[in-house]
Amino acid sequence: MIVRGGCLCRWTEFEVDLPFLKFVKCHCSRCRKATGSAFAANAYGLPQALRWKTGENDVVRFDLPEARSFATSFCRRCGSPVPHATRSGREIIIPAGSLLDDPGASPTIDSCWSSRARWLSDAINLPSVD
Ligand SMILES: [Zn+2]
Ligand SMILES: [Zn+2]
Repeated sequence: MIVRGGCLCRWTEFEVDLPFLKFVKCHCSRCRKATGSAFAANAYGLPQALRWKTGENDVVRFDLPEARSFATSFCRRCGSPVPHATRSGREIIIPAGSLLDDPGASPTIDSCWSSRARWLSDAINLPSVD
């Protein structure tokens, strides 16, 4: 099965093969900055699971210099987060909010839970780890 995804302005579009390797909510401060939200909801896949349909050349990647592997990619036109490879190249990270279709899966873990924004409600019933 395949899910489609794209950015806010629809200039970039891609598709990803299911199932995901994992699906994680991350509450770390980097993910909050990168998403502008309480947490990142990221799905992971193998590199060959991602195929760009349009706009790949307008995807900008930012590697956080002081981080071992933190990076983000976004559409040059609208700034929306889009998939990118981990620095090792072994996996791709797909921002779940960029998906157009229901992947039929949900995050299974709350990562960096103790770093979560204090304004985030605790009304969440997933396993919580750091
Ligand atoms: Zn865009
Ligand atoms: Zn994070």
